[in-house]
Amino acid sequence: MSTIPLAAADTLVRLDDALALTGARGRSVAGRGIDVVDPATGAVLTTLPGDDADDARRAADAAAAALPGWAATPPRTRSEILATAHRLMLDRADGLTALVSWESGKSRADARAEITYAAEFLRWFAEEAVRPEGHFGTAPDGLSTTVVTAQPVGVAALVTPWNFPAAMVTRKIAPALAAGCTAVLKPAAETPLTALAIEGLLGEAGVPDGVLQVVVTSAAGPVVATLLDHPAVRKLSFTGSTGVGRLLLRHAADRVVNCSMELGGNAPFVVCADADIESAVVGAVAAKLRNAGQACTAANRFLVHADVADEFTDALVREFDALSVGPPSDPATDLGPLIDRRAVERIQERVDDVLERGAVLANRPVPVPQAGSYLAPMILRDVPEDSALVVKETFGPVAPIVTWREPDDIVRLANSTEYGLAGYVFSGDTAQALRLGRAMRCGMVGINRGVVSDPAAPFGGMRQSGLGREGARDGIRAFQESQFLSVAGL
Ligand code: NAD
Repeated sequence: MSTIPLAAADTLVRLDDALALTGARGRSVAGRGIDVVDPATGAVLTTLPGDDADDARRAADAAAAALPGWAATPPRTRSEILATAHRLMLDRADGLTALVSWESGKSRADARAEITYAAEFLRWFAEEAVRPEGHFGTAPDGLSTTVVTAQPVGVAALVTPWNFPAAMVTRKIAPALAAGCTAVLKPAAETPLTALAIEGLLGEAGVPDGVLQVVVTSAAGPVVATLLDHPAVRKLSFTGSTGVGRLLLRHAADRVVNCSMELGGNAPFVVCADADIESAVVGAVAAKLRNAGQACTAANRFLVHADVADEFTDALVREFDALSVGPPSDPATDLGPLIDRRAVERIQERVDDVLERGAVLANRPVPVPQAGSYLAPMILRDVPEDSALVVKETFGPVAPIVTWREPDDIVRLANSTEYGLAGYVFSGDTAQALRLGRAMRCGMVGINRGVVSDPAAPFGGMRQSGLGREGARDGIRAFQESQFLSVAGL
């Protein structure tokens, strides 16, 4: 029997018990099975029945039928359901952590942190649900009264990636339901189990039938296309790569569907000559290695002032040397496997390319298990600015270091990408750090810290990293539209 130890007391969670949270155990597989694979071993954890375009259409029909009732449900009731779901999620944190770890391969510490973060979105939007936006006033010419209300935008199609199987799901479901929308969620085929478990706990918390449905499919293209073509679907909230985001924006244009897009990143991590190197290294480890580097906010390029490049690199090498890479089931594991072998091969090709072009490996990569999709963390110096490793989103535990000397270079280097999601600046001079942060075309900038995600703050990107923001007040507004009533004689 497969088990995974969790929490300080090493509670053993059995695979069957974790799968029971998804409600998937015992479901029949009707010829369109989806194998959910453990990236640590390549073994199949379970096989789920796959949905197709007809299932997606039926789910959207049901969401359309449920919309008037849910939109008319008192905000306090919607809020209390989300608050109950928040409590249930924390109560089940052990099992949910195990599911996230099993299907995505992330270390149990990362998976536990994700469950806490994911639950916070349920709490935050439970609170936002009862704070409706609106406006009432006299028109400037004094001839009418202005009433502006925020209304649910309609049925929402939610599409999520595999790298945060819980948090990307609650960051969409919670504001959608808080706003009074109904939704159809399509999680990544690699990580559907956590999404099913979250659907289950929301049902237990009181979400009525039809209000939220999950379609699990390996036919993402036709299924999402069906949702976008459905007459009731008025919203697309997508998190994933910029390439797929572009395709979906084009499709959404056909019916002018309202879109929120959380896309790829290529975060610059700037270290100034006056930075506290110790805290820059702590920040670098957090910004680079969370989820083995598979985060949209991951530091993709380290832009370090030439005067401190040696000191910073040596200290970062010491941190990388101390890492343990292994199965998430081992409590000592810092970094688990990447999502699949293709990811490992893609990154290794980029590393080989820069090594051929004169870059130098600064650390001795730690040994990794042979089975599964592991990649040892690497630090590379003298990396060409125009290499794929720097220009593209790496999505793995590789830290390329580029040095700079002139302050003008740093803004140019930081902004030399089509992306603009996260960025980081480390400097002993707060005014300088703020100036640099403001000059960076990034939606989120960590100033002397390596973490930017916070449910209470707007999360999202500039340029080709996205449209709109999640979390904060912005998150619920993304699922609402303003209606203006111009009233005579009030
Ligand atoms: P992806 O774009 O391949 O897939 C994302 C989702 O889209 C999945 O559900 C997938 O099944 C679906 N999809 C894939 N092709 C599709 C198609 N043709 N039509 C419709 N749907 C399709 O991304 P991924 O590999 O799952 O995730 C990694 C990417 O997500 C990275 O680029 C990362 O930066 C980004 N990401 C962004 C954020 C953010 O908040 N900005 C957060 C997490 C991940």
